[in-house]
Amino acid sequence: MRFHPDQLQVLLVFTKEDSQCNGFWRACEKAGFTCTVAKEAQAALACFRDRHHDIVIIDHRNPRQLDAEALCRSIRSSKFSENTVIVGVVRRTDREEACVLPLLAAGFTRRYVESPSLMACYNELRQLELGEVRSQLKLRACNSIFTALDKSQEAIDITSEDNVIQYANPAFETTMGCQSGELIGKKLAEVPINEKKADLLNTINSYIRIGKEWQGIHYAKRKNGDNVKQNVKIIPVVGQGGKIRHYVSIIRMCNGSTKAEKITECVQSDSHTEHTPGKHKDRRKSSLDVKAVGSRASEAGTPRRHSSIARIHSMTIEAPITKVINIISAAQESSPMPVTEALDRVLEILRTTELYSPQFGAKEDDPHASDLVGGLVSDGLRRLSGNEHFLSTKNARLAGLQHLAGAVLAPLSPHDDIPPPIARAMENEGCWDFNIFELETVTHKRPLVYLGLKTFARFRVCEFLNCSEATLRSWLQIIETNYHSSNPYHNSTHSADVLHATAYFLCKERIKQTLDPVDEAAALIAATIHDVDHPGRTNSFLCNAGSPLAVLYNDTAVLESHHAALAFRLTMGDDQCNIFKNMERNEYRALRQGIIDMVLATEMTRHFEHVSKFVNSINKPLAALEKDGDTREGQEAVTAMLRTPENRALVRRMLIKCADVANPCRPLEQCVEWAARISEEYFAQTDEEKLRGLPVVMPVFDRSTCSIPRSQISFIDYFITDMFDAWDAFVDLPDLMRHLDHNFKYWKRLDDMKLRSLRPPPE
Ligand code: AMP
Ligand code: ZN
Repeated sequence: MRFHPDQLQVLLVFTKEDSQCNGFWRACEKAGFTCTVAKEAQAALACFRDRHHDIVIIDHRNPRQLDAEALCRSIRSSKFSENTVIVGVVRRTDREEACVLPLLAAGFTRRYVESPSLMACYNELRQLELGEVRSQLKLRACNSIFTALDKSQEAIDITSEDNVIQYANPAFETTMGCQSGELIGKKLAEVPINEKKADLLNTINSYIRIGKEWQGIHYAKRKNGDNVKQNVKIIPVVGQGGKIRHYVSIIRMCNGSTKAEKITECVQSDSHTEHTPGKHKDRRKSSLDVKAVGSRASEAGTPRRHSSIARIHSMTIEAPITKVINIISAAQESSPMPVTEALDRVLEILRTTELYSPQFGAKEDDPHASDLVGGLVSDGLRRLSGNEHFLSTKNARLAGLQHLAGAVLAPLSPHDDIPPPIARAMENEGCWDFNIFELETVTHKRPLVYLGLKTFARFRVCEFLNCSEATLRSWLQIIETNYHSSNPYHNSTHSADVLHATAYFLCKERIKQTLDPVDEAAALIAATIHDVDHPGRTNSFLCNAGSPLAVLYNDTAVLESHHAALAFRLTMGDDQCNIFKNMERNEYRALRQGIIDMVLATEMTRHFEHVSKFVNSINKPLAALEKDGDTREGQEAVTAMLRTPENRALVRRMLIKCADVANPCRPLEQCVEWAARISEEYFAQTDEEKLRGLPVVMPVFDRSTCSIPRSQISFIDYFITDMFDAWDAFVDLPDLMRHLDHNFKYWKRLDDMKLRSLRPPPE
């Protein structure tokens, strides 16, 4: 495997340095590519074997001087030419165009009709660079992935959509007692060892067909007839046409000793048995026992931090790409320097491409979690039965702006002082234990304006935006007015709560070290607007109901797109509340982009992707850097790593995501109130779905049967724990993690008592 050098390398094969040859030579100079000229075939071949150029351009205009097709064949016969782009320069002719097939048969990738102008040559090279050469680079990355798979200790096989084995790694063949290559191309059902697996695939296909992975125990037969118990994870891979084209199976033998087996046994047994009391606690305890923790543990000096950092390494939110990254990282540890460096490049490519797709773990045993996944993470289409596309007048209302008249809520004048009870309710606004519900009461459900004024002043946002406090007030008012106070959960108190959590995170040392003032302003504004005009229904509901918003945004991130778009329309639509009006264009563009990106990050379909990227690109590299101690150079390396534009974006997204769902980390009383509010909103949605004959997207949230404690346990287990472990490992948030633990145990106690309500009976 060989990697693309920093500069592209081009080999020109021209028998004489004519205008065409010079054209390409100068074009290479202009593009910053290294260029070599060879004048005859043998020299060209030797040069290619030595340097393995990315692009070879061969003069095909004078067959008597240079047999271009023979040279191309010779190059192609070298095993390193697989990823090389070879271009044949042909004559411009008045006669009928010659067929390109002989060139293709000889191994040329493209044909270039002679044109010596610098720009024509330059254009050709640039098109090649961004087209063919880039594709080849990706293919090379695939080679490294397959190398990693080949070396993996886990048995892995890949089958096609019709169950033909397309790849089996050596570990798989050894496990099954088969010879190398013996399985490739066979149908699963024809291979004795996999007879049952074909059945298994059929059985679980209904599950897998909707894009979920399956994990469980499978009994396979070795070639010698032995039965083996395997822990199998089957992951469908969506390919061409959006259909499932492959199944990847990752297999571990079950001897009951590895961690993954224990987890799976646990998942399996959960489906048959009552939920084990204290499972959450036990998991935490077991990760406390892990010795190999990040270096920050010593600095933090508490077992709690040990546990957060240790858990990062055993997170279950593994997209296949995460697994590949882990395999490559592990391989790096025992590799010589050149290989390590090459693998660094692979990791770089893998981390910056969009290969992160969420993998929903085996959650079928937990109806609350799978309903939350169905309701929050899927796009709503999967449950669509096809006859629900009618518009409700209620939702049609959403398509328009919702300027509630100022008469409904008396506007604050710019000179209004903050009334003392409100000022008192905001006194401890810098602490995590600040109570937003008190502020809600004293402001008569207008906490956002007041908390916004105080918080934005603390962060000097008006100075940053170059706007007056009066404009900020008007802006906060119009935004707050467009939150629906009739929603139990998604009202302006929720947005004020998210603003509070955002401001709290922004004050933490690690965040100050990472983010710029523009990021701070973007975060505070994004938190304020992030759910504006929320209808109290989920995206899935809006898609199923064919609401105008779902139609407008093509069933994609419907609400989040609407929150961001509406907020900008409201802001720009009235000079009085346009907080951006004095900003310089480029600054505004950067700020706007940051705000939109953060609001869109609150969409739950990409939850696992965001968390997974954060863990891989921030937590893990950070732990590695900090292992080397607390020197000044070390600190500088950490800051440089964190402050790249890509990593700052990951931190901003994680920050707003954590602020958005921090309610399970609030003091118990507040946590319980939020749980009551979100449950009521979900119940109302289920009521309406039933009433209108729409698909019920979260059936467990039925007010007559729902166990709120169970739903909270599932929500915390599935969405919250891993995310806050990662966030805590980065930011250091002992208060939040203490509350989370305490609240989780509270819900467990209620669940153990089999209570459906929110509060235990009086003693
Ligand atoms: P947002 O709509 O931006 O507030 O996104 C957060 C998502 O998490 C929403 O879909 C909420 O319904 C959901 N959520 C937040 N807190 C809870 C909770 N305590 N229990 C269940 N779902 C929650
Ligand atoms: Zn929200």
